[in-house]
Amino acid sequence: MARILFTGPLGHGHINPTLGIANELVERGHDVVYAAPEPFESAISGTGAKYVPLRSKWSEMGEEAGPQFHGQAFAKASELALVETKHMTEQLDALRADGRLQRPDVIVHDGPVAWWGRGLGHDWEVPTVETWPNFVSNRHWNMQKYIKVNPIDPVFLRFLWRLRRFLRSRGVSGVAGFMQGASAADRVVTVPRAFQPSGRTFGEGFSFVGPVLTDRAHQGSWKPPAEAAGRPILLVSLGTAYHDRPDFFRMVTSSTAGRDWHVVMSIGDRVDPAVLEPVPSNVEIMPFVPQLAVLEHASVFVTHAGMGGTVEALNAGVPMVAVPQMAEQRANADRIEELDLGLALDPGNLDADAFWHIVDSVGHRAKFAARSEWMQAEIQQSGGAPAAADVIEAAV
Ligand code: UDP
Repeated sequence: MARILFTGPLGHGHINPTLGIANELVERGHDVVYAAPEPFESAISGTGAKYVPLRSKWSEMGEEAGPQFHGQAFAKASELALVETKHMTEQLDALRADGRLQRPDVIVHDGPVAWWGRGLGHDWEVPTVETWPNFVSNRHWNMQKYIKVNPIDPVFLRFLWRLRRFLRSRGVSGVAGFMQGASAADRVVTVPRAFQPSGRTFGEGFSFVGPVLTDRAHQGSWKPPAEAAGRPILLVSLGTAYHDRPDFFRMVTSSTAGRDWHVVMSIGDRVDPAVLEPVPSNVEIMPFVPQLAVLEHASVFVTHAGMGGTVEALNAGVPMVAVPQMAEQRANADRIEELDLGLALDPGNLDADAFWHIVDSVGHRAKFAARSEWMQAEIQQSGGAPAAADVIEAAV
């Protein structure tokens, strides 16, 4: 039995894909502790891992909803991530110092944001495994293509200077290696290799285990209502952070009447449903939909192409219409198009005819369904939580 410490940031998209892995390790008899910000207490406890609360500074730092994450916005987000890293490091160091946390045999931490896992692994002389819920980069394919940070931007240079100073204070050298997670024993990528751009070029140190989805019974269930009989189901969602788009949702409600589709639309908690009136009888709107349950019945998924929803659709074999709202989603949308898993729509284009033309094309053309089935089969061979747990055990 190993002592395994998981840690992750204030972000559903970063914690959720790890829950099934934590649960698998608990079931294998390991002593699993999961340190994360408070909103995740019940989700983490549900895996059987022991939950340790961490306080996040993220929301106090004025982190806006739906940041764009490219250019200077990415540099600013990196500065915030460094502040959060220092804050989390102090808390975890204090927990260890007073004996509330024992020295783990391995630290499993989110790679893109929870950088504190890297520093603690170095300080505590413990191997680390990183979890990556989105695309990873190497010299063949790099997210920089989308993020487009200017290397001489003053905000970026200030961030680098602060990072270097922090790392030096912890005895870590090599900023580039630190940022790439080069010290990790492995990176567990919860995306199927076939979906990762240049996927075959990622060798040792990267394990593509595919989506690790957990039970969503707490979200309730969904079945097509009687009036949807014989109609294809269209799921529309812009996720949990980029959904403040009343214009987009209004375009859908005002143009669905008389169409063959039955639309299920997640509008989030920032749009007043009154502005979407009148809502035709073949549209259901909800602030939050039980997404996995709806995907089981959906013929097409209109999505902002966040990686969480994207891999869920791939897992369900549902082709997509991507309406990306920021840099990383643009990368996902391009990959969806490249692999014929769907088509992308310019997010600024609110033309209803163009929207329905693209939805009908994705819904009716056999190649999208066939390619989505191919990807679903790839996922079934990716290994999921058991493969991830094997990697973590090997690191121990
Ligand atoms: N989600 C859901 N119901 C909704 C909207 C979102 O269950 O109405 C879930 C979705 O299944 C996914 C996550 O929230 O697991 C959203 O993650 P994603 O990466 O797609 O987008 P983000 O919200 O992080 O932009």
